[in-house]
Amino acid sequence: MTGKGSGQPPRQRHVPQRTCIVCRRQVDKRRLTRVVRTADSGVLIDPTGKRNGRGAYLCDQPACWERVIRHAAILNQALNAQVTEAELAAIAADPRRPMPVQAES
Ligand SMILES: [Zn+2]
Repeated sequence: MTGKGSGQPPRQRHVPQRTCIVCRRQVDKRRLTRVVRTADSGVLIDPTGKRNGRGAYLCDQPACWERVIRHAAILNQALNAQVTEAELAAIAADPRRPMPVQAES
C-alpha cells in the first residue's frame, strides 16, 4: 500500500484533525488530549485515544486546560455528562496537562 499508481502525491501525509472543545481550533490529533466519558469510571483522560465512550479533545494550550478545569460546563456539554470535582481535579493533575511557560524574573 505505497500508493503506487494511485496518483496520490506521496508527500502530503494526512494527519487527522480534531477540534479543541475550548478554542475550537482544528489541531493535529497528536497534539490533542482526549477526554472520555466511560461507562464505568466516569470522565477521565484517555492517553491511548482508544477507550470506548464519548470523547472530547483538548489542545495543547495551557489556557484551554485552565478553562475546562474552571468551567465544568464546557466538558459537561461536550460529553453530555456531569463532571465531578474529583474528575476535574484528576484532569488538572494529569501529567499530560500543558503548563504555561514560567517566565523567570
Ligand atoms: Zn484549545
